[in-house]
Amino acid sequence: MATFIVLLGPPGVGKGTQAKILAETTKLAHVSSGDLFRENLKNQTELGRLAKSFMDKGELVPDDVTISMIRDRITRSDCGAGAILDGFPRTPIQADALEKMLAEFNGEVKAVPFITAPESTLVERASGRWTCREQGHIYHQIFSPPKKIGICDMDGSDLYQRDDDKVEMVTKRIRVYLEQTMPLVEYYRKAGKLLEIDGTQAVEQVTKELLSALYK
Ligand code: ADP
Ligand code: ADP
Repeated sequence: MATFIVLLGPPGVGKGTQAKILAETTKLAHVSSGDLFRENLKNQTELGRLAKSFMDKGELVPDDVTISMIRDRITRSDCGAGAILDGFPRTPIQADALEKMLAEFNGEVKAVPFITAPESTLVERASGRWTCREQGHIYHQIFSPPKKIGICDMDGSDLYQRDDDKVEMVTKRIRVYLEQTMPLVEYYRKAGKLLEIDGTQAVEQVTKELLSALYK
């Protein structure tokens, strides 16, 4: 059975950072809805143009568009054994759609690590984030700076600050998260899949806690 791990948590808490490490460790694919939207934006696709109007306001892209983008992605062959889902689902409708999709191809949500940190930490992290243009590698100006300012260590492409990582926008996205995504905490808790992880620790500590919760 294909194994899917859903990383749940507010903007800036460290989902992307941990998803990349987990994907390496587990050999599962890393599927980030935010990265997929940004790729579409960069390639100026129709989906990218549609998503931009919502992303620019810090709002969620409508469920139907998001769900069909994820369906396309997780039916690709590299997700045959499963994937680390980072940023999806973000609403109860998306979570229901995921259950249906996985039932179709013999997959299941195995666990849902829920990473948390206080709002001040989220703002500090997101507003200092630098993202790699080519592949979305993640840096922080203070907590994990690149070797050379403005250049990605991994692929040499330039680093940029996401428009939605300006402080006011981060605050708005946290509000949207509290309103629309928080219900998923109870959804997955009831399903017995929620694993609460303290996201305030250093990256390595968070990874340790994640791995021991997942494989205990
Ligand atoms: P974060 O760092 O806040 O977790 P993401 O890169 O996951 O940011 O998301 C950036 C933006 O992309 C969101 O503000 C939203 O507009 C859009 N987005 C990403 N994932 C989803 C989703 N599952 N449903 C709707 N919109 C999404
Ligand atoms: P998310 O995907 O949840 O929005 P990211 O993984 O992109 O979060 O991390 C947001 C920012 O915080 C990035 O700049 C990243 O380098 C930094 N970061 C991630 N985890 C930690 C951590 N445990 N301690 C300090 N900074 C972190």
